[in-house]
Amino acid sequence: MTNTDVVIVGAGPTGLFCAHQLGIIGLKCEIVDNLDKIGGQCIELYPDKPIYDIPAIPECTGEELTKNLIDQIKPFNFNFHLNERVQEIKNENNNWILKTSKGKEFSSPNIVIAGGVGSFEPRKFPSKSCEKFEGKSVLYSIKDKSIFKNKSVVIFGGGDSALDWAIELSKDSKVTLIHRRDEFRGAQASVEKVKELQKNNKLEVITKYSIKDVKGDKSLESVEIKDESGKSKNLKTDYVLGFFGLIMQLGPILEWGLNIDKKTIPVNTESFETNKKGIFAIGDICSYPGKLKLILSGFHEGALAARGCFKYARPDEKYKFEFTTSSKSVKDRLGVKE
Ligand SMILES: Cc1cc2nc3c(=O)[nH]c(=O)nc-3n(C[C@H](O)[C@H](O)[C@H](O)COP(=O)(O)OP(=O)(O)OC[C@H]3O[C@@H](n4cnc5c(N)ncnc54)[C@H](O)[C@@H]3O)c2cc1C
Repeated sequence: MTNTDVVIVGAGPTGLFCAHQLGIIGLKCEIVDNLDKIGGQCIELYPDKPIYDIPAIPECTGEELTKNLIDQIKPFNFNFHLNERVQEIKNENNNWILKTSKGKEFSSPNIVIAGGVGSFEPRKFPSKSCEKFEGKSVLYSIKDKSIFKNKSVVIFGGGDSALDWAIELSKDSKVTLIHRRDEFRGAQASVEKVKELQKNNKLEVITKYSIKDVKGDKSLESVEIKDESGKSKNLKTDYVLGFFGLIMQLGPILEWGLNIDKKTIPVNTESFETNKKGIFAIGDICSYPGKLKLILSGFHEGALAARGCFKYARPDEKYKFEFTTSSKSVKDRLGVKE
């Protein structure tokens, strides 16, 4: 069990800046995100797109913004727990106990929910038998491409991820790309590259087919695919990969006893606290009159929520407002030498 002052649920831009605000007022935090990377929507949905409305930054991409937010909190050495969804929370003696999908536990007087539009989850294969091999030989994301070397891989999907991975893995693996339509949705250059590889027998493409089932006893042996008429065939394979995009769902947050209004959490605008003492909500997930779903609003909300956390984390101290330009304690916390 890790004890801390605040657990931040969500490592999107809002959660990251809130961590900064906690750091400069001297609080510790742990940051948990369901994704395998830091940055929320900015990194998952639009890493290369330019953003034009971050104060004092005329233009930056989603990836650049994320990198700068991470750099800004580096001095505090906060821990990130990625690939983990905060699953359950319960209150024990005025402390919140949080449990993640991997069984990790935290104890903290404060939770800041910066969960955006919810946790991003991959769209999965409908076949029940896929669950048996999920995470081993049936995968929806790739963490280590070396496992596919000299193996046969069947990839399902028609968008950029499916095409990009088919191209990449065809260098060292026997790849079959399967799509339920004739036309691919991905970037034209990738579609052309796939066609070229297909022509040179570097990968196989099967269209108008979808997955029916996977087969195997202890390990995966083959995948059964079917066409629109239901006619099926079996392909021997070591791995089956599915790239059908992401779905966003509030998921477990809905079960934490918080007031919910149209998939958002109502908060007060003084400290962004919810109906539960010590639970704050900021960024896209919170709602209040006049709420703008913009990154800049999330920054402001995170600053006030951090001050709200202070009173529960340090009940015997009075929060003292200071400017970062002139505060010695802030400079000490940032490791600034004068
Ligand atoms: C294409 C596009 C363009 C945009 N352009 C702009 C723009 O130009 N300017 C602007 O201001 N805004 C823009 N936005 C909106 C902006 O990206 C969002 O307002 C911002 O990302 C919200 O930040 P957030 O930190 O609240 O949530 P998010 O960025 O959604 O991050 C939330 C994180 O919480 C995680 N999470 C959720 N539930 C759990 C759980 N139970 N356990 C663990 N982790 C969890 C998710 O995995 C996610 O990583 C754009 C959005 C899109 C889609």
